[in-house]
Amino acid sequence: MIRYIDDLQLTGKRVFIRVDFNVPLEGRRVTDDTRIREALPTIRRALEMGGKVILASHLGRPKGADPKLSTVLVAEKLAELLGGKHEVIHADDCVGDNVKKQVNDLKAGQVLLLENLRFHKEEEANDEAFARELAALADVYVNDAFGTAHRAHASTAGMVPFVKEKAAGLLMRKEIEYLGDKVLRNPQKPFVAILGGSKVSDKIKVIESLLPKVDALLVGGAMAYTFLKAQGIEVGKSRVEEGDKLALAAKLLDTAKRLKTPLVLPIDHIVCADPDGKGPVRETPDQVVPADMMGLDIGPKTRAMYTQRIRDAKTVVWNGPMGRFEVDKFAEGTRSVAAAMAINKDAVTVIGGGDSAAAVEQMGYADKMSHVSTGGGASLEFLEGQPLPGIKALETK
Ligand code: ADP
Ligand code: MG
Repeated sequence: MIRYIDDLQLTGKRVFIRVDFNVPLEGRRVTDDTRIREALPTIRRALEMGGKVILASHLGRPKGADPKLSTVLVAEKLAELLGGKHEVIHADDCVGDNVKKQVNDLKAGQVLLLENLRFHKEEEANDEAFARELAALADVYVNDAFGTAHRAHASTAGMVPFVKEKAAGLLMRKEIEYLGDKVLRNPQKPFVAILGGSKVSDKIKVIESLLPKVDALLVGGAMAYTFLKAQGIEVGKSRVEEGDKLALAAKLLDTAKRLKTPLVLPIDHIVCADPDGKGPVRETPDQVVPADMMGLDIGPKTRAMYTQRIRDAKTVVWNGPMGRFEVDKFAEGTRSVAAAMAINKDAVTVIGGGDSAAAVEQMGYADKMSHVSTGGGASLEFLEGQPLPGIKALETK
């Protein structure tokens, strides 16, 4: 069982919240504050509940302390986003005597943002002494950083057993509710999964995990060509994974056949000799890609077929773009899947995967989905059906 922040009593307690403030920086500027805004509901809730809020995150990939990757900029941004209603204090480390003193001096309604956790290599090494030091700052541990839940680090897993009480934050709750309950555990039928993106090898475990659960699995993106080639279909210069990956694709097709689950491949393509769309772009009449061409998007017949499947579904989960959507000429397949999901108001619609989420965002469909996961790698691992260390650590008996 997992408790949520609302289930706890926070008055006067030191509430340590692991957030995902891994925001993009350009020099001295936070260029996208989405991740900070997404953590606000949990931070506000903890403050309303009378907690003394301690926030911790990693930022970038520092090797040791690196002023360019300090969370100090994030503290400024956060204070602004909280509307100046709460004082946000920045700690110049995440462990040590100074931080302990800052935590002791903290008053209800104040927020203390710790310095970048990854300034200490012990964070990623999940060092026990370091985990205990972090835990010593807290009466209550709250994890709202779904995006790092697939990593067993000191702040996501190691410290948790050393804190008295633990709970998931509101963002984490939404991820578990959608990816866990509404997709993996209790999907309304028909349940359709759409998988695309660059490599079959990245998605093998997701395919294996979803095949027994779904009514159909629709494939697009570059990985479709590995499946087509595995069946002996000519794929021209399309991006394929060779060797054992072809055998693996063939095995997955066999598994689907045995389970009687349609694993649906594109029946036509948008092709071009150049991946950036320089030169003539054509639609193919069938599954075959001409020898000197690359398949860069699903074609119109495939779009119509996938749209139909999505329209009839009650649960749709999507990971991986249908084509090289960064180039407008090859974005139509991805756009049509997003549109079909957005229009289906009777279905639970969930997007996982970094590039897919970015595509949906960019195309303006994000707020029409039931849920767009905030964790790229984490959502993929969640859909593989493995318990994520950061979520497992929150389980109580
Ligand atoms: P996600 O992050 O959503 O899990 P992936 O990282 O697996 O998705 O794949 C996204 C990438 O795959 C994009 O950069 C996209 O351009 C690329 N891609 C999709 N289809 C094709 C294709 N047919 N040919 C080449 N690249 C493709
Ligand atoms: Mg990606």
